[in-house]
Amino acid sequence: MTTTTPLKSLADEAAQVMRAITLIKLGARMQVLESEISTLSRERLIRLYREVKGASPPKGMLPFSEDWYLTWGPNIHTSMFANVYAFLEANSKGLDRVDLLTRAYSLYAEHFDMIGEPLQMDLTRAWTFIRFKDAGILRLAGCTRCRGKFVAHAHEPSHSMVCGICQPPSRAGKTKAAAKAALERDAAPQAQAA
Ligand SMILES: [Zn+2]
Repeated sequence: MTTTTPLKSLADEAAQVMRAITLIKLGARMQVLESEISTLSRERLIRLYREVKGASPPKGMLPFSEDWYLTWGPNIHTSMFANVYAFLEANSKGLDRVDLLTRAYSLYAEHFDMIGEPLQMDLTRAWTFIRFKDAGILRLAGCTRCRGKFVAHAHEPSHSMVCGICQPPSRAGKTKAAAKAALERDAAPQAQAA
């Protein structure tokens, strides 16, 4: 009977190691690991990372801003991931954040692998999206044309939202209004030359 507690904590620890390995395999950076696997020390996480990847984790801060998720290609990829995440969150009781993240990301990656399209979003970006969503900066909003749900700024009015599939950005062959909307949405520096 006295062995119950240590045995349980060993099993817990093994489970945490497995979760960390899953995250590393999917492409998590150190910030993700340290934030989500708080029961393992930074040194152990670095060792695990080296074992799994055969290289040291990249250094430096995460440079991501929320605007990345609103550019055309990334928005379609993030939206697919976000829809899967939201579905799992609503329908899978007992899954915690890490489970939701790794399952939703695996399904996202499988989907785009299957149709032969390179992934635009790595796991760390997916994790950062969840943080923006939880902080109320980004959300899923319904497209007024196709009714699909796409990632948008939380403060953006939803009654006029049109997704990037219904209205892809194009610099030629579109109506003036559509071209103008595309330029505004891209907000690229070269837009000033047009
Ligand atoms: Zn649409």
